[in-house]
Amino acid sequence: MIGQNLGTFLIEEKIGSGAMGVVYRALHEKTGKTAAVKVITNEAGSKARVNERFEREADILQKFRHPNIVRFLARGRYQGTNYVAMEYLTGGTLEDLLDQQTSLPWREVVDYAIQICDALHYAHQQQIIHRDLKPSNLLFSEKRQMKLTDFGIAKDDSEDAEALTATGRTLGTAAYMAPEQIKGEPKISHKTDLYALGCLLFQMLTGQTPFRGSSPVVLMHMHLSEKPPRVSSKVPDIPRALDDLILALMAKDPARRPFDAEKVKQDLLDLKMKAKRGEAIPSVFQGGNAPARLGMISPSTVTDVVASAVPDGTTAGPIRAVGSSRRPWLDGPRLAGAVDPERVKVGAMVGVLVAGVAFLVYMLWPPSAEALLKQGESLMASKQLADWQRAERDVISELDRRFPGQFDEQKRAWLDIMELEEARRRSVVLESPTADAFPYSRPKPGPETVFVTHAQLARAAARVGGDANALNTWKDMIRALNAEDRAERRWVLLAQERIRQIEADMANRRSIVAKMLDEADTLARAGRDAEAQKLRESIVEQYGVHPDLHPLIRERAKIDPLTRKPIDPAGAPAGETPSL
Ligand code: ADP
Ligand code: MG
Repeated sequence: MIGQNLGTFLIEEKIGSGAMGVVYRALHEKTGKTAAVKVITNEAGSKARVNERFEREADILQKFRHPNIVRFLARGRYQGTNYVAMEYLTGGTLEDLLDQQTSLPWREVVDYAIQICDALHYAHQQQIIHRDLKPSNLLFSEKRQMKLTDFGIAKDDSEDAEALTATGRTLGTAAYMAPEQIKGEPKISHKTDLYALGCLLFQMLTGQTPFRGSSPVVLMHMHLSEKPPRVSSKVPDIPRALDDLILALMAKDPARRPFDAEKVKQDLLDLKMKAKRGEAIPSVFQGGNAPARLGMISPSTVTDVVASAVPDGTTAGPIRAVGSSRRPWLDGPRLAGAVDPERVKVGAMVGVLVAGVAFLVYMLWPPSAEALLKQGESLMASKQLADWQRAERDVISELDRRFPGQFDEQKRAWLDIMELEEARRRSVVLESPTADAFPYSRPKPGPETVFVTHAQLARAAARVGGDANALNTWKDMIRALNAEDRAERRWVLLAQERIRQIEADMANRRSIVAKMLDEADTLARAGRDAEAQKLRESIVEQYGVHPDLHPLIRERAKIDPLTRKPIDPAGAPAGETPSL
């Protein structure tokens, strides 16, 4: 197309291409200004579909006006070719920058991230989800301002999801793809872009995307079931807050990711301001909260330190102070720092009033056991600690008092949920890579030590014999503890949860492999034997490391996963069989 005209644009040079379009530098002949013009490539696929999508992209760009989104100039159709003209950006893409520099300093990353959040939030507010956030879709202006582009697969939140997913290009790029984008549930939302943002920030800081695999299928599997690494495991001296934020963005469950792009931006701005003012910024391995001082700082600071070690970033309230009550994280408000005497007075008056009214209501109308159970159920269904706190205070103890010996099973189930949550939170601290550095994060003698030991054993067992082996370690741990003991029960619950997770991972992997094997069989039936065999070999390569899948692979792929050699029809592995 070079040298040709598209309407009033003279095409000068090709500057980029992707799955859907080609982008040219073009001269606007009327004004003499340079523009970027995107046209659709003539794909074999459904032309109507591709056109429709291209039109959508143009619609979105035309509607948007934001300093961090590439600016729309014009659109049109010229001799059968649809095109969109945009401002021409001369600073290259983020991909180019990462090609040159591999990784970037955290202050620079924070600056870029703020701009990306701004663009995302703007789009999200208009119900547009980008769905393909990645380095090649972020451009730099001459003044190094960042601009988001390529709304080619963006989804209008209000539209039918199905309608746009079938076209030519793999939706989203596997390295940045959120679990819900892979599974199709829960519904894709603005949080899907936040997941990609997490992967992108990880890459900017470390030079690599969080998950890397030999094929899109492997990558997708990792997004679904592998725990993402922390940035600090590769770049130790980044701010702890940034480390935690990125991990939170990559939460598998969208509900556990930060609320929205605006919230992420605020957190980043905070960090930027602190850095600007020269405040000490705690990093993961050194910095502000030096371990040696931990013993002296106030409980609320302990809480902050611990809260920031919790990976999902959802810890709204304080967690626990050393050696406080049975479920200390439920006692949040009491940990709060200094108390204002004025507030106490007012609080006391209000308290007396509320207590009086409550007492009256109670005398006149004590709730039935049924009503209490209902209340308990709805409080426990909440994800808020404060609601659980109320369930324990208002429902469980009330049931204890008024209906002793009844509903024990229900009460136990609720208390177990709380115990398990406490064990989870504590386990994050105990298993964190920096656990050794903080007196608080070292295991105490007793069940904590039992847990830490078994967690190490389980990791070693998994390395040697796969997940099935690790399962046994967790079962051993359950046997080593007493579930009826108050202090030990939560660790038993945690071990049970680990077992459930491992079993789910194994089942998940198994179903992916089964699907791939089905696909190989389908290929073979269609006479495409070479392709079928190639697929089978890649299954062995990717999944042969999991002993639990060996029987399935042997039986259906007819390849020995250990030797990677074909198994002959007589049943014995081909080649030499080592004698034991
Ligand atoms: P695709 O849908 O094919 O991925 P993009 O819109 O992402 O299309 O554009 C592909 C490439 O073209 C980008 O990665 C970038 O290198 C280049 N490009 C796109 N838009 C511009 C622009 N406005 N200015 C300069 N280069 C651009
Ligand atoms: Mg692109």
